[in-house]
Amino acid sequence: MTDTTALTGESGPAQEPLRLAVTLDDPFMWRGAGFPPGYDPDVVLGRLCDAFERYRVPEVYAFTSTAPVEDHPQWLSALDRWTGRGHHVAAHTHAHASLNWTDVPSYVADLDRNLELLEPWLAKAPTRYFRYAFDMWGDTRDKTDQVQTHLARRGLLPAPITHWFYDVQFLVAYLRTLRTGDTGAAAWVRRRFAETAVDALRNQAAAAREVFGRQPAHITAPRSPPTPTPRSSPATRPPASGSSRWRRR
Ligand SMILES: [Zn+2]
Repeated sequence: MTDTTALTGESGPAQEPLRLAVTLDDPFMWRGAGFPPGYDPDVVLGRLCDAFERYRVPEVYAFTSTAPVEDHPQWLSALDRWTGRGHHVAAHTHAHASLNWTDVPSYVADLDRNLELLEPWLAKAPTRYFRYAFDMWGDTRDKTDQVQTHLARRGLLPAPITHWFYDVQFLVAYLRTLRTGDTGAAAWVRRRFAETAVDALRNQAAAAREVFGRQPAHITAPRSPPTPTPRSSPATRPPASGSSRWRRR
């Protein structure tokens, strides 16, 4: 999917280097979630591009649901900056719908709406990828087969994930620190965010080795909540050490 980067654990079975494909989910977040003052998808994707460049993580696919651009059509241009810096866009349903919770015709119509909006950027990607929202592939074999057939017809490959943690649970706490200007608390949240991500990767890699008897390549998919140092709000700017959020990846 993307080139991989090595991450070495400190102990146990995860001590061997891991092959990790870094992808991104939901650069527009979800409809109604919004962004705090000083942030928008262009700012966030720009910061992520800087971080990926700094840590030599190339060609990251951003799995993008598109319902938020109904309220903010100008956000789509952030994908130009993203692809302009060497990354790629992939499909993710329009409304971030779960196939487990809906019927196939509704799901396929929602997916096609997503493809229609993203086509200018999908056409530039080396591979046309799709990620099931919530990584939910359907609660019955028949639903999964029908959607898989539709994906094949549309020239899309499904991209699963192997590493995940509750990144969104940090969001409200982090937004609160930005609103109150509590830079110490903001730094603490960012540190815990990074530690939690790495701990989850070590645990999940150890579990994979236990199950498969070998260490497979992993695929991670952090979402794209606000990252430090908003361009237009210096008053809320966290200390420079805040960029350590991505340091361990
Ligand atoms: Zn998602």
